[in-house]
Amino acid sequence: MVLAELGGSIARALSRMSNATVVDEKVLADCLNEICRALLQADVRFETVRDVKANIKRVVNLDALAAGTNKRRIIQQAVVDEIRRMLDPGKPSFTPSKGKPNLVMFVGLQGSGKTTTCTKYADYHRRKGFNPALVCADTFRAGAFDQLKQNATKAKIPFYGSYTESDPVKIAVEGVDMFRKEKCDLIIVDTSGRHKQEAALFEEMRQVSEATKPDLVIFVMDGSIGQAAFDQAQAFKQSASVGAVIVTKMDGHAKGGGALSAVAATKSPVIFIGTGEHILDFEVFEVNPFVSRLLGMGDLSGLVNKIHEVIMPNNQPPNIIGPQLVEGTFTLRLLYEMFQTLQSMGPLGQVVSMIPGFSAQFIEKGNEKEGQAKIKRYMTMMDSMTDAELDGTNPKLMNQSRINRIARGSGRLVEEVVHMLEEYKRIAKMWKKLPLPTNNRRLNTNRD
Ligand code: GDP
Repeated sequence: MVLAELGGSIARALSRMSNATVVDEKVLADCLNEICRALLQADVRFETVRDVKANIKRVVNLDALAAGTNKRRIIQQAVVDEIRRMLDPGKPSFTPSKGKPNLVMFVGLQGSGKTTTCTKYADYHRRKGFNPALVCADTFRAGAFDQLKQNATKAKIPFYGSYTESDPVKIAVEGVDMFRKEKCDLIIVDTSGRHKQEAALFEEMRQVSEATKPDLVIFVMDGSIGQAAFDQAQAFKQSASVGAVIVTKMDGHAKGGGALSAVAATKSPVIFIGTGEHILDFEVFEVNPFVSRLLGMGDLSGLVNKIHEVIMPNNQPPNIIGPQLVEGTFTLRLLYEMFQTLQSMGPLGQVVSMIPGFSAQFIEKGNEKEGQAKIKRYMTMMDSMTDAELDGTNPKLMNQSRINRIARGSGRLVEEVVHMLEEYKRIAKMWKKLPLPTNNRRLNTNRD
């Protein structure tokens, strides 16, 4: 089960529980079973799933809850907290700081995405104001230096390597010395991989590490390896004093849930995830926003960061959230303005999942073209609305005759207008639940 499906399954289980007339032991048990099934299908280890279930049951003791307590909210919170705990090793990692030379060494098996990730990591930090450089100390794989050179040249990052020298330690030391003299403040050493964990690989890692004394060793792991992730992460951690992990290939059909939870179980912080082959397919990994996005709750802070980092690095970010939202009213006009901003920002895939309500249901990853077309259609329909309709918050205003008029005016079908309004209501409902100052009252209402 790919990650988006895992998030969808958990969200559906929670919503079924939420919609039950009465929340009793059976409803809770059904909800938990559904969540556990989804986690197992996403390759999360059985032991972890068992613990998740036991912990939620411990927190949610229906018999002990006082009458009038909002059971639905307590269950929802317990599930979200447990998913977060499952992915959180509770340990921050070293982060490079400006103004001092930082040395980072990359380790991992061949094919895990190590070389690609070195360049992504360098490029990410350059956008943050660092002056990075890459050293290719992979003398094991033929073509490794060419690959790093190609990636580095494309990304305009200085690099060092050799076609003739076969001693990785020598290359690493020379490269690091050279870039230190050139005042590079983030030197990244790419080491050799192997097809499998073996003594020779660990010995080479140890020697390069001893000779260069990195501030941080990053272990790169393929996110699609599922159940094997725990053993692999643990083996590298024990052999190479790994300080952080980057999980790659979290796009496509990766059952990333297994890899992420397995890595967390080894108490190694995941710092980034790779989400594609392109240099920008690289995301900071932070548990809370990740879980929010996984469960379709959006990630506003991530959205604003992404706009800063990738899309408009030199300009002010566009005001996608808008002043109206802070006042707690999500109107059709606000949705229209969001669409306008999205259209001006380029690739949709990078940001849509961070906007509450826009995740997989609205625009599927990999189907951004259809997403763009959908936004255009919706905007055409909205162009045929009156100011009162766009600014109104009274759903009854949108009666059949108005819907017919909008359909006629925009040249779209009545069903399409109805569908657009339903999508708007769904998104607006989600935004109303966000913990914005004026929404807090609604969050505290009891339903049981
Ligand atoms: P290395 O042997 O560990 O250095 O691995 P490479 O960097 O050569 O990557 C192996 C393959 O995985 C290449 O085809 C990369 O383009 C691809 N790759 C790396 N990271 C990702 C990712 O996050 N997503 C996808 N889909 N492919 C990736």
